[in-house]
Amino acid sequence: MFDAHCHLDFEAFDADRDAVLLDAQSVGMSGLIIAGYDRERRALARSLAERAGIWATAGLHPWALLGKDDAWLERELEALHGDLLAGGFCGLGELGLDFYRATEPADRAFQQKAFVGQLAIARELDLPLVIHAVKCHNSLYEILRQEGVPKSGGMMHGYSGSARQIGNFLMLNLDISIGTPATYPDAHKLRDVILATPGDRLLVETDAPDRAPHPDRHLRNTPALLALVIAAVAKARGCKPDEIARQCERNTRRRFQLGDERLSVA
Ligand SMILES: [Zn+2]
Repeated sequence: MFDAHCHLDFEAFDADRDAVLLDAQSVGMSGLIIAGYDRERRALARSLAERAGIWATAGLHPWALLGKDDAWLERELEALHGDLLAGGFCGLGELGLDFYRATEPADRAFQQKAFVGQLAIARELDLPLVIHAVKCHNSLYEILRQEGVPKSGGMMHGYSGSARQIGNFLMLNLDISIGTPATYPDAHKLRDVILATPGDRLLVETDAPDRAPHPDRHLRNTPALLALVIAAVAKARGCKPDEIARQCERNTRRRFQLGDERLSVA
């Protein structure tokens, strides 16, 4: 199985990162992608990605924008462009909009500015996108449609939109990634999404350390728990977990052009 989106670089894993990786490997994890958050964490993500079976993306998460200004954004976009050009990253992200976190019009406009700026970099370097979208799917789609998506497409990480909307994102060459909310007993809307997504466009992820799967939602989330997401997706689609694990792994490796290197922690 392959975790298409986690934050192994976060502080929550500083004390036991190797044990967490070993744990993941022992339950059958063959690879994972660390999604970028901001410049501060970028170097660690890149160095972790030097290990077999670990990849990283670089970007500016919408949460990292709160309280920042235009001058900051200009500097950060330039640094991001440089870091991506220097290599070592398989995509651009997280980037996107979060209208749940940003309720003020000015904050939302700033998120959009950062989003558009990062989209331009992704198109120039043709890097697949890792998109964060919360309570904003129509606005986000409009921006993507107007600005354009890189040829290499991307993923809607931790998809929380409706099943009705996925057609729009699929048409833009964005895959639908399913996270731990699929394990919640009341995830009816997400189960419709899981059913409506074509098998070759489906990814699975943990988004660890946040949002642990049901029933231990209060605990730290880890990549090893991806098996619970896969089980929930398999149940919703009426097929075997192994099938989902294999198909989603194939999809992720193809989307981010990862080859077949596997996680191998001593
Ligand atoms: Zn994330």
